[in-house]
Amino acid sequence: MTTPQQAYQELLGLAREIALLRSVSSVLSWDRETYMPPRGATLRAEQSSYLAGLIHRKWIDPRVGELLSIAEADGLTDDPESDVAANLREWRRDYDRATKVPPELVEEISRVSVLAQTTWTEARQKADFGIFRPHLAQHIELARQVAACIGYSESPYDALLDEYEPGLTATRVRRLFTALRDELVPLVQAIVASPRQPRTEIIHRHFPLDRQKIFGEAAAAAFGYDFRAGRLDTVTHPFCMGIGPGDVRITTRYTADYFNEAFFGILHEAGHGLYEQNLPTEAFGQPVGEACSMSIHESQSRLWENFVGRSRPYWEHFFPRAQQTYPAALGDVSLDDFYFAVNAVSPSFIRIEADEVTYALHIMVRFEIEQPLIEGHLAVDDIPAVWNETFERYLGLKVPNDALGCLQDIHWSFGGFGYFPSYALGTLYAAQFFEAAHRDLPDLDEQIRRGHFAGLLDWLRTHIYRHGRRYRTADLIERATGQPPSHEPLMRYLRAKFGELYAL
Ligand code: ZN
Repeated sequence: MTTPQQAYQELLGLAREIALLRSVSSVLSWDRETYMPPRGATLRAEQSSYLAGLIHRKWIDPRVGELLSIAEADGLTDDPESDVAANLREWRRDYDRATKVPPELVEEISRVSVLAQTTWTEARQKADFGIFRPHLAQHIELARQVAACIGYSESPYDALLDEYEPGLTATRVRRLFTALRDELVPLVQAIVASPRQPRTEIIHRHFPLDRQKIFGEAAAAAFGYDFRAGRLDTVTHPFCMGIGPGDVRITTRYTADYFNEAFFGILHEAGHGLYEQNLPTEAFGQPVGEACSMSIHESQSRLWENFVGRSRPYWEHFFPRAQQTYPAALGDVSLDDFYFAVNAVSPSFIRIEADEVTYALHIMVRFEIEQPLIEGHLAVDDIPAVWNETFERYLGLKVPNDALGCLQDIHWSFGGFGYFPSYALGTLYAAQFFEAAHRDLPDLDEQIRRGHFAGLLDWLRTHIYRHGRRYRTADLIERATGQPPSHEPLMRYLRAKFGELYAL
């Protein structure tokens, strides 16, 4: 006879074991993206898939279900904010999601993905949606099956969103996105029409790569990213990898004639890294020791990259250093011109190259397609037309071909539906957190102007990092800021900053 306490202890042990396996798997992934020789790819794929299978089997073991039922039956969950209650709630969610989808369906998705990714690459190269179409249709059908297995009350899209954003629904995303779009589209139009425009050639001068690395590392360290518990490496597609306590690694890529790419990329990944480095280490392997959600993670990268790193106070402190580091490129440039150039707004086709103001509109185009696709209200054949029409309405540009349109992102080729909204929500939430931090720390701008970030880091630690998954996203935001998720702080921020820059 297992007591509830014993059941909980056994779950803790199992969770720790799974966390160790996951951290091993993360080291392998990090190595694959950074230093692994190309011919190691086959063995690495086998190693990683072996570990993934092992982790999955441990987690879907019926014994886990038994232990959860025993532990849940007792007063352990009486205080819903306690570590025990939060862990049990989140384990239950993870266990249910993992066991509801039959392994044959998971295998079918990964089988379809292999071919879908190859054809997506070819389709994008040839800018021909027709090549990718049948594979995308298969993925959509499989995603609907996944949604049916998991269950939902309103829309099958909710079941997919829930993977990244526990508890979020398409209705709530739509409400936020519609409110934001209605204000954002006219703001972008006003910016484009403004006679005052930045001199963007400034950031396209020559920035020696070795200096970019040193300057970027110094900037990440100034934020509080701990290099004794991390490192910065070069990759094709930058990411942050939280391996575990004491080991959170970031990556970037460098372009000699473009200042923004590596520098703001490093600040972005350092923002993710700060979250991972400041999670409660004693809770490693437990939900209360893990990041809250994708959107909260993205809010941290955007907050440090844009709200801090692209602010005027920040450059009042760092611009003289930038001039010392790059005398040839920036010696004759004024702070005002530089600040305007790094904040240039210009509608463009590619999401990952989008600026701070237009970025969310790129995500909304995808959401407008994904939701009806999964619900069966949009035919796969109609994707390019709907994409192009929506894109022009939101961003004012005519999409010349599918490579610059609906084929640009890899996500659909592995069946990743429901993932995009997190990116835009991250920006929305970052604005809300930053506004609340300003209210609690009235001299925050002055601190940033002096290059002091400990006050802000401490605020984030107190209100976000230390809670792990104790609260769901909306709840965490309301506790930290006093308001439910809203588009208003972001619009206030964008209007103030870009209204001044573009003299609107
Ligand atoms: Zn990110």
